Amino acid sequence: MVRTRFAPSPTGYLHVGGLRTALYCYLFARKNNGKFILRIEDTDQKRFVEGAVENLLKTLEWVGLTYDEGPHKDKGFGPYVQSERTGLYRQHVEILLEKGAAYRCFCTAERLEEMREKQTRLKQAPMYDRTCLKLSKEEIAQKMESGIPFVIRQKIPHGEKLMFKDQIRGIVTFDSNTIDDQVLMKSDNFPTYHLANVVDDHFMEITHVIRGEEWLPSTPKHIFLYTAFDWKPPEFAHLPLLLNMDKTKLSKRQGDVSVEDYIQKGYGREAIINFIAMLGWHPGGGTEQEMFTLEELIEKFSIEQIHKAGAVFDLEKLNWFNFQWNKRKYTDKLQQMAKEIQSDCEIRVTEKNEKIFKFSTPEKEKMFTEIRGEILYEMAKQYLPNQWRDAGERFSKSLITVEEKILKNASESAVNLKFYFEPGPLNMGLVLSEKMKVDKTTAAKALQKSREALTNLENFESMEEIKSCLMQVVAELGYKNGQVFWPVRVALTNEQFTPGVFEVIWALGKEETLKRLGEALNSLQV
Ligand code: GLU
Repeated sequence: MVRTRFAPSPTGYLHVGGLRTALYCYLFARKNNGKFILRIEDTDQKRFVEGAVENLLKTLEWVGLTYDEGPHKDKGFGPYVQSERTGLYRQHVEILLEKGAAYRCFCTAERLEEMREKQTRLKQAPMYDRTCLKLSKEEIAQKMESGIPFVIRQKIPHGEKLMFKDQIRGIVTFDSNTIDDQVLMKSDNFPTYHLANVVDDHFMEITHVIRGEEWLPSTPKHIFLYTAFDWKPPEFAHLPLLLNMDKTKLSKRQGDVSVEDYIQKGYGREAIINFIAMLGWHPGGGTEQEMFTLEELIEKFSIEQIHKAGAVFDLEKLNWFNFQWNKRKYTDKLQQMAKEIQSDCEIRVTEKNEKIFKFSTPEKEKMFTEIRGEILYEMAKQYLPNQWRDAGERFSKSLITVEEKILKNASESAVNLKFYFEPGPLNMGLVLSEKMKVDKTTAAKALQKSREALTNLENFESMEEIKSCLMQVVAELGYKNGQVFWPVRVALTNEQFTPGVFEVIWALGKEETLKRLGEALNSLQV
């Protein structure tokens, strides 16, 4: 049975690269009816971060990657936290010592530092010079007796060409003479990553080790350990690096690297999973489909389709996925609500693949507007001041006018909606516009006439009617559209960029529209 594992070291947050590893391990296990295991690699006590494991579990749960075995889910292979397995590692390092596959090293930190400096000076790759390998049994016993601290190092068999088949990269070859005698057990009796990782992968019966490419140089060390123990190594698959847009290794400096940051910013789980899945993988087969649910990913996933080349982490692409998923979820919900209001409501699909819902009565239309605002509010809620809700109908309508923006990035909702609820004092410089050919007289006339026409308009529920009302004003004044629409829109919003003037009027409603136009006229006349 296929058994994969995600084996993070808890550093405090889940790195996007870590999420990709977890996702591919998960997909591969699910696809093959296997098991996905979570193992916490916390042997580096110096790097212990309070709450890191809980945070990791929470994030994995949020994105929907449920593990079959792991902390709090022991299926007979536990414990799944390395700091709770130290006895097992000690036992196994003894076996290696007995077999001559490991040795004690008493070198002091100073001595090792000197050695490294010398090697660097001579332009040699830094590696342990095996001084302690030459110690006799007696010397070792004597040093141990005098209580000199020691570490245990792996004895890499020299003079070998180590070859293994990586599931993604094909045959990989290493010259064993270039491999360092890695520390396996530190002087505090804690294992290093290498020993713990191999022992655990064996005892947890892991069949496929899927992990980041940065671990590729460690793999020969691991294979030598498997051989020393007489164990069968698992299959290995090393995932391509994640890159910044400039093709350097993905770094914190160029943006967020923790999944929690993206969750915080309002990205949805489907978008995050979809985007992460495509970082170095594609279902192939000439498909143009880009949006995949987790279930679809399971069905389509295969290691063969993972690319060798580094994968660029393109925020624009993540934004695109987020928009597409929000839109899909939103439209599905709208459709369901529309059906509840009127089972045979008319649904028209526009060229841009947007759905327009038509109801048989204005009352139903109104109900739908409210529901639509409510759904959008759910998405933007955490980013909006509570008191704006008190504006009632204006609130739902205002959300609808910035619908696309909310679906793209809900976290900016407050900025996009502020003018509806807290308009600043009128900025005359913005109302008057040379480009739009709006001077003081033009503005005054346009505002005056529009106010009159809108005062006589009864139905503010129909954007069409608002539009023809203002078009009438344009015609009567003999102005260009912009000479009316610009000053009216700026007078109402006091912003350069907002939804279109008809939408703004529709959302503000008659009373507020007339009030704001009146105020603008007053300040124009003084
Ligand atoms: N603990 C290692 C990490 O933090 C795991 C590497 C591996 O999967 O072997 O990435």
